[in-house]
Amino acid sequence: MIQFYSTNGRAPDVTLREALLTGQAPDKGLYMPREIPRVPREEIVAFRDKSYPEIAHAVLRRYTEGLIPDDELRRLCAECYDFEVPLERVHGNNWLMRLDRGPTASFKDFGARMMARMMRHFLAEEGGELVILTATSGDTGSAVAHAFHNVERISMVVLFPVKEVSARQRKQMTTLGGNVRVIGIDGKFDDCQALVKQAFADPELGRIRFSSANSINIGRLLPQSVYYFYAWARLQAGDAEAVFSVPSGNFGDMCGGMLARRMGLPVSRFVIATNENDEFPKFLAEERYRKVEPSRVCISNAMNVGHPSNLPRLVALYGGQMDETGAVSRPPDFAAMRRDIYALAVDDEATRRAIVETWREHKAMLEPHGAVGWAGLERYLKESDQVTRWLGGQVEGTTALGHSPLCISIETAHPAKFPEEITRLLGIEPALPPALADLDAREEQYDNGPNEYGWFRSRLQELFR
Ligand SMILES: *Cc1c(COP(=O)(O)O)cnc(C)c1O
Repeated sequence: MIQFYSTNGRAPDVTLREALLTGQAPDKGLYMPREIPRVPREEIVAFRDKSYPEIAHAVLRRYTEGLIPDDELRRLCAECYDFEVPLERVHGNNWLMRLDRGPTASFKDFGARMMARMMRHFLAEEGGELVILTATSGDTGSAVAHAFHNVERISMVVLFPVKEVSARQRKQMTTLGGNVRVIGIDGKFDDCQALVKQAFADPELGRIRFSSANSINIGRLLPQSVYYFYAWARLQAGDAEAVFSVPSGNFGDMCGGMLARRMGLPVSRFVIATNENDEFPKFLAEERYRKVEPSRVCISNAMNVGHPSNLPRLVALYGGQMDETGAVSRPPDFAAMRRDIYALAVDDEATRRAIVETWREHKAMLEPHGAVGWAGLERYLKESDQVTRWLGGQVEGTTALGHSPLCISIETAHPAKFPEEITRLLGIEPALPPALADLDAREEQYDNGPNEYGWFRSRLQELFR
C-alpha cells in the first residue's frame, strides 16, 4: 500500500485514507506519495482504445490498491467522468484539451468529483459523517459544492464574499440545495477564510467533524494526472514525447502532470504559464523565491495567486523542501527543473491577443486562463524553433524542418464563463455549455451574514446540532 509523506517532513506517513480525510498534514505540510507507481509503456499506449473512465481507473488503482476494491473504483470513475473531454486540433500538431465539460465547466471538476467520492467511500467504511467547510472567491467553491452535492455522509458549507462574486458564479453554488448550504458574508474573501479557520480551531464546535477539501488535498491532485495520460494516448501515434502547456495558479494542475510523467508518461517538457503573478518563473530563473504580495489582479482571475499552495510539492519532486510559508530549507535541483519545465509569465495584453488571434486564425475559442497556456506554448515553440535552427546550423546533417512534437495546451474553463471579455474581444457571445444552460432560471437559496464569528458559530450550531 502506498504511503504518503508530508512535505514539511515532521509528520508520520499515512495511507491515502488519512491523507484524504485530513487534507493537510499535522505539520502543515502537503501529502505526497512516498513512491510513485509506474505504468508500463505498453499499457499507456493501449489507453488509446479505452474510455476516459477506464483510463482513470487504470491510473488511480495504483494508488487505491488495498483501500478501495477494484470494481468499486471502476464505478466511482464512471460516476465522476460522465462527460466529454474534447481534444481540438488548432494547427499542425498543436492541440487544445478542453477540460470544461463538467458540471461547473471548470477543470476543477476532474479533481473535486473524485475526491468527494473517495471520501464517501472511506466514510461509509467507518460509518462516519463529515462537514466540508470552505471559503471561496468564485470558481473553487462552485466546483467543490457541485462535487459534494448529493454525496451521502457529507454536508457542505460554503462561505463567499457577497459583493465580490459574479452573479453567475454565485448561482452555480446557490441553486444546488440539498446538502449544500451557502452563506454570503458581508466582507472580503480573506474575511470568509478567517471565519472558516476560526471554526476549524473552535473547541465549542469540537463535536462536528470538519474537513476543508481544498485544493491541497491529495484526493484532488491524483485524478489530475489522468487527463495527461488520456491526451497522450489519444493523440500520439508513435512513442514520442509530448509537450504540455499548463496555465497555472496554485500549481495543482501541473503537479498532476508531473506525477503522470513520473509514472511513466513520455513528456519532454511542461510549459508552465502564469499570468502576471510571476513568482514561479522568477524562482526557476533566479533560484530565489519571493511571493508576489499582494497578488496581481489579472483577467485570468482563478490564477491570481502570489504564492502557489502546491509549490512545495513540485519542490519535493526535485529533492528540495519548501514549507507552507514559502521558506526553502533545501533547494531543489534547479538544473533538472529547467530541463523539464519552461516557465513564463503572460500579461493581460498577451492573453487578450492570444484570444483574438487564435480565433481569427484558427477559429478556436479560448478564455483568459486557457489563453495564458496557449500564449505560453506559442512562445515556447518560437524559442525552441530558434534553438533548433541554431543547432541545425552548427551540427552537420541535422535540420529543424519536419520536427514538430505533439503539443497539448490545456483549456481549464469554458469561454461562456467570461461572456463580457469574450464578447468585447471577439464580437460574439459564447454559447453556454449544457451544464450551465438553465442556470439563470434556477432558484437561488442562501443565507446572508455579517462578518462576525459569533454569528457564524451559532449558525453552524443550528445546522449541525
Ligand atoms: C483553478 C484554475 C486554474 C489554476 O489551476 P491550478 O491548479 O491552481 O494551477 C486555471 N484555470 C481555471 C479556470 C481555474 O479555475
